[in-house]
Amino acid sequence: MHSRVRREKRIVQLMMNKYCEDIHNSSTLCTDCNELLEYAERRLLTCPYIENKPVCSNCDIHCYSKNQKEKIKKVMRTVGPKMIYTHTLDTLWYFFYKFIHKNQKIT
Ligand SMILES: [Zn+2]
Repeated sequence: MHSRVRREKRIVQLMMNKYCEDIHNSSTLCTDCNELLEYAERRLLTCPYIENKPVCSNCDIHCYSKNQKEKIKKVMRTVGPKMIYTHTLDTLWYFFYKFIHKNQKIT
């Protein structure tokens, strides 16, 4: 797996854990959050900037629903500012920017 994908996967996992803990009061990911995390991971793996990505028309991964995208953005807005204190700002910001940017590109 591409190292960049690995790093981003880790970030998204951290964000989901934090979000579920704070908002849903759950020490482990609840069903909703788990689904969202899986969705986000699939999304990372289809990043158009990563080598060896299948061409969209050949890709068997479903495209992303608006609903899921909104949920992810909400998670980022909620926990992003909190995580800046525990994680380096540029990593988080890079990820955030890239994700939003990709959203615009795909839709
Ligand atoms: Zn949750």
